[in-house]
Amino acid sequence: MAGASVKVAVRVRPFNSRETGRNAKCVIQMQGNTTCISNPKQPKDGAKNFTFDYSYWSHTTTEDPSFASQRQVYKDIGEEMLLHAFEGYNVCIFAYGQTGAGKSYTMMGKQEPGQEGIIPQLCEDLFQRTGENTDPDLTYSVEVSYMEIYCERVRDLLNPKSQGTLRVREHPILGPYVEDLSKLAVTGFTDIRDLMDAGNKARTVAATNMNETSSRSHAVFTIVFTQKRRDQMTSLDTEKVCPISEGANINKSLTTLGKVISALAEMSSKKRKSDFIPYRDSVLTWLLKENLGGNSRTAMIAALSPADINYEETLSTLRYADRAK
Ligand code: ADP
Repeated sequence: MAGASVKVAVRVRPFNSRETGRNAKCVIQMQGNTTCISNPKQPKDGAKNFTFDYSYWSHTTTEDPSFASQRQVYKDIGEEMLLHAFEGYNVCIFAYGQTGAGKSYTMMGKQEPGQEGIIPQLCEDLFQRTGENTDPDLTYSVEVSYMEIYCERVRDLLNPKSQGTLRVREHPILGPYVEDLSKLAVTGFTDIRDLMDAGNKARTVAATNMNETSSRSHAVFTIVFTQKRRDQMTSLDTEKVCPISEGANINKSLTTLGKVISALAEMSSKKRKSDFIPYRDSVLTWLLKENLGGNSRTAMIAALSPADINYEETLSTLRYADRAK
């Protein structure tokens, strides 16, 4: 099972119109938290089972009792991660899987009631909770940044006019960071949504672009949530800063990310501290270093196509998720 610090979920989407048009067959079945994939070439004995923290079925209609709504996915994963952020952990939620498998839908969703993904629901919940604070000695601030890592180069999605790529540097205490990346203060969910929309438009590759290059583009949306407590005796402020990072569309760095996550999971299950974790092997893992190891809680959601035509790709996504446990 997953080490305490990594939660692993998989989610299967409905057929898209292309799959329906080609009369695709569904190769995924789910029972409880187990996902079964059958090989369309050997339907009888080619089935493989994988068990995760959650197996989310959204292939059929909402009437299906095992159907997982956007709300359900948020409640299970997003809310837990938000509570960890309030406790002072670094939190990282990421989605991966083949283009078109449902990463953006799970992370961002759509701007229709009940269709919002994890990020908007988490942001809304965050502001709701901080808004309910009645302790005059406790203050909160929220800042966001949004970057794209494309072919190992970092671009600022909140300042697309900034020329060229940004430098990745290392702070002796706070760890790796991107120099000159815009970090904008936000006071409510609508601010975040506007920034996210602007950032999405600035991405190198549109999410619908089904080609090789799109899988090399990784988007990292970071929420820096600061809780400040004023000490009445000294009148000093103490700060607790919790970056909440959310990535989507991860792939070239996927291999390294997989190695990092499985090394961390192994380390936590064996309670060993000294294992080598290859953070430095990709820009993505290097930048997420503080969000993946140490004082952090991570959730990964693998997005799956249900269709037989994507069997190979879906199987490799399942194997990847399985290694992270
Ligand atoms: P990706 O980000 O992995 O490339 P998308 O999230 O854009 O994929 O999903 C592709 C399409 O499938 C979109 O039209 C999206 O709305 C739809 N979709 C994905 N997952 C689901 C789901 N769980 N339920 C309903 N529709 C989904």
